[in-house]
Amino acid sequence: MQSIIDEIARDMMAIENKGEVASYIPQLAKVDPNQFAISVALTNGEVYQAGCADTLFSIQSISKVFTLTLALGKLGDNIWHRVGREPSGDPFNSIVQLEHEHGKPRNPFINAGAITIADLIMQGHAPKEVLAEILHFIRYVADDDSIAIDEKVAHSELKTGARNASLAHFMASFGHFENPVEKVLGTYFHHCSIAMNTTNLAKAGLFLANNGVNPVTGYTVVSAQRAKRINALMLMCGHYDGSGEFAFRVGLPGKSGVGGGILAVAPGKASIGVWSPGLDKIGNSKLGTMALELLANKTGWSIFGKE
Ligand code: GLU
Repeated sequence: MQSIIDEIARDMMAIENKGEVASYIPQLAKVDPNQFAISVALTNGEVYQAGCADTLFSIQSISKVFTLTLALGKLGDNIWHRVGREPSGDPFNSIVQLEHEHGKPRNPFINAGAITIADLIMQGHAPKEVLAEILHFIRYVADDDSIAIDEKVAHSELKTGARNASLAHFMASFGHFENPVEKVLGTYFHHCSIAMNTTNLAKAGLFLANNGVNPVTGYTVVSAQRAKRINALMLMCGHYDGSGEFAFRVGLPGKSGVGGGILAVAPGKASIGVWSPGLDKIGNSKLGTMALELLANKTGWSIFGKE
């Protein structure tokens, strides 16, 4: 495994066009695109890393995997009254489908869906309390108490988050929201601004690779059924309108973020964190996707079969 990912890291760093960093969040536009990291946590407890695997980056939408898990823990299948579980086929910040479906977002991973999930987990609590709960959960699954919110990124998102605010107010106009829109948005922007490295991410996804149980600690995080369902959602919706392409090329459940990170799950085998801040046109990490494609081919981990 170490030689496989060393080679992948070398190949990725040699690629000249590494994609464009997200510029609509000014703080993310400052990140050097010339970086690559990969970490693989096997279900037997071994962890391998290559590239700048200790560098922290903004996990952005990858946080939606953890907030969805929390929402399911609190409310179970009741969440499906507020959010669907179908791929959207639209960009991550699209508003169009909300009008046709009376303010019910297509899935928990597009922005509108994740904002709805933030509303669901707040249950009348202050953003600070909910964020403490989200952080506590992520620190627990990643086994790293130093994981924190990057306040600069959160502030940057708040200042430039007109589109997300529009989505939230539009949904609230259907009377769905249980908490004040501004507080929901504050919670959403802050959980997107959590900073982690690829090893944190790989470890944090292990419960999804191991039927809901963290294989290192032995603790059950979610039931096997729930892990399987979260993986299904990641596969179908984790890369927005690029989810089909990701399944086609990589063949693993995965969730991307505009910070350039991707968490991928090889059920029964491993959890993988990759990061390279340059994005493709859809907003998914260009080199991150290429690296996962290479890894899936070299290991035969695609859930659809070997090449
Ligand atoms: N915080 C970002 C936004 O709301 C998340 C988008 C993403 O990572 O895809 O625009």
